[in-house]
Amino acid sequence: MKTPSLPSLYSLNLDDMRTVLKENGFPRFAADQVYQWIYKHYVFDMGQWSNVGKKVKAFFFENYDLSIPKIVWNGLSKDGTRKFLVGMGDGNTVETVAINARDRLTLCISSQVGCAIGCTFCHTGTMGLKRHLTTGEIVGQWLAVQDWLNKNARKETEEGLQEERLTNIVYMGQGEPLHNYENVRKSAQIFLEEKGIGLSQRRVTLSTSGLVPQIEKLWDFPPVNIAISLHAAHNDIRTELMPINKAYDLQKLFEAIKKVPLKAHRRITYEYILIKDLNDRQEDLDALMELLDKKESKVNIIPFNEYPGSDFKRPSEQRIRWFQKQLLNNDYICTVRVTKGDDILAACGQLKSEYEKLNLWDDDAHV
Ligand code: SAH
Ligand code: SF4
Repeated sequence: MKTPSLPSLYSLNLDDMRTVLKENGFPRFAADQVYQWIYKHYVFDMGQWSNVGKKVKAFFFENYDLSIPKIVWNGLSKDGTRKFLVGMGDGNTVETVAINARDRLTLCISSQVGCAIGCTFCHTGTMGLKRHLTTGEIVGQWLAVQDWLNKNARKETEEGLQEERLTNIVYMGQGEPLHNYENVRKSAQIFLEEKGIGLSQRRVTLSTSGLVPQIEKLWDFPPVNIAISLHAAHNDIRTELMPINKAYDLQKLFEAIKKVPLKAHRRITYEYILIKDLNDRQEDLDALMELLDKKESKVNIIPFNEYPGSDFKRPSEQRIRWFQKQLLNNDYICTVRVTKGDDILAACGQLKSEYEKLNLWDDDAHV
């Protein structure tokens, strides 16, 4: 009989799957076939894997869990943003959001249940860390949402009604991805695998609050886009917002960032939550410009998303535009994240309260 604690099949990257098959006396190429069924055709019922040998299927059936996470709830916003509550096998849920912008459908995925970093502006931060997600649960969010879209969502195109296809990923849901380094790294390998989903590196963005030891290990990570949650250019303000700044202050953070292997013409995105009277002043701008190299950076301003229980306030629209304009006038690339999906109570990284509004982004930040 199958035990419920079998490892997820979706925790295996292609090399792992080939190795497992070889070690058990099966041909390695069967891994390529299985990968195609799962990640190209979204067929999770092995009964339909017509070109895969019976013994290989029996082996996977006995030794791996093939179930994908369940979509517990979903809601569609007027602007096309769709929020999913995704249930894991142990009853925990995480939020996953699909954001429609121009020709992209970006999935914002979670890497942990809760988060240990405890940023003072972030609702997830107030929950503490419950647990890491496994690789299978991280990849499973994509599989579950794409499977749901295949069955439920059609969009009108010139060629007629077509299935909606996810095109991009941002690791900006709940949790600090680099705190769950190995599982997140393996999930990125699976997303990029050509024999499977085959996303290009440019369509994947990893966002981190600045875990310096893990940033120093990024040479070992698939070369995806990197976004750093900066939020302040003064150490005292950053520490107030992000307790992690006590351990890894701006100097240590930027020493680590300098070592990040960047492909030619790639820039690091700096996320900057703009909070009224806290980090939206002229001196904050000056410090930010002093800190960031305009040729190697992009700034993504995120107007603070207010929620009950938080004392921080969102600056006026005029202030937000002023802040952006100064950066643009000084030749920085700078976007302002747009608010999306307010009507479905969806948000990334701060979703657990019923009262929250959704604050997502301008997709330029994720090129
Ligand atoms: N832990 C990682 C990635 C997930 S956080 C990180 O911090 O980078 C997801 C995003 O939500 C981050 O850009 C974070 O800055 C933003 N965020 C969290 N709380 C917010 C709030 N109240 N208003 C606006 N953005 C918020
Ligand atoms: Fe964690 Fe990111 Fe929220 Fe900070 S902003 S508490 S790192 S999820």
